[in-house]
Amino acid sequence: MTDVAGISGETRLAAVIGDPVRHSRSPAIHNAAYAATGLDRVFLALEVPDGRGFDAVRSMPVLGIDGFSVTMPHKADAARACDELSPDASALGSVNTVVRRDGSLWGDSTDGEGLLRSLADAALDVAGRTVLLLGAGGAARASALALGRAGARVTVAARRPDAARTAAALAPGADAIDLGAAVSGDFEVVLNATPLGMGGEILPVEPPFPGQWAVDLIYHPSDTPFLAAARARGAHCVGGIGMLVHQAALGFEAMTGVPAPLEVMRRAAQ
Ligand code: NAP
Repeated sequence: MTDVAGISGETRLAAVIGDPVRHSRSPAIHNAAYAATGLDRVFLALEVPDGRGFDAVRSMPVLGIDGFSVTMPHKADAARACDELSPDASALGSVNTVVRRDGSLWGDSTDGEGLLRSLADAALDVAGRTVLLLGAGGAARASALALGRAGARVTVAARRPDAARTAAALAPGADAIDLGAAVSGDFEVVLNATPLGMGGEILPVEPPFPGQWAVDLIYHPSDTPFLAAARARGAHCVGGIGMLVHQAALGFEAMTGVPAPLEVMRRAAQ
């Protein structure tokens, strides 16, 4: 017996945990994917206070929750709560996906692979290319790891030298420089992994020119001042929606074992 929302005693639960989390697009993306694949599941946003991410993840077996997407500030606490980590999650000490598997909690970080897939969609193969990576936070570290694995020659530019060095250590042969010393014209790809642009801020580097690539991880807004300026100059541009969709698709597949309906998820994300 189901109610009007199609929810019954059989319906299984997954969620995104974060603080804040009400703005998250994950419920829209995952619920659209459940509807498209006929899965009797629901995906919620759970506001878990800072410092309680570990407890939230450890409660999954107790409550019978199948999977968590994990966002700020819980990514490191959630990694500590897992019984097993993927190689990426282990290298980063951070997870964005937790799944119950055979009675244990398995954590993965799908941001880096999500980024590579979004670049592949745009026909950008980073192997052998020089990449200027702006920022050294969680998204930048996941990007450095993935770009390095894909054969890119990475330079991390951040305002804190220690953070830049830590991020650069994740990509073989990567350099770390001060953000103020970054010259975008020296690179084939310029990738923004800072939040600068979410509120209309201008990045402290020259926008790329024709032949160069501008990549922005920001997905809200979908067009940042950095991308708009790069596009106006004739550079190739890639926004953050593709990475958002691909990392969610990888999480969906880990949680359900079902191939992700990528186009449905892309429409829901937009
Ligand atoms: P984070 O861990 O807080 O890191 C932010 C980075 O930007 C840090 O290196 C920080 O430097 C730097 N930064 C912040 N404000 C700055 C400023 N005014 N000037 C110079 N540097 C500044 O955040 P995150 O999780 O990595 O996220 C970064 C961006 O990526 C966000 O816009 C997020 O929405 C986006 N993102 C997108 C996806 C996707 O799927 N498309 C996935 C993850 C993240 P300090 O450490 O010195 O503060």
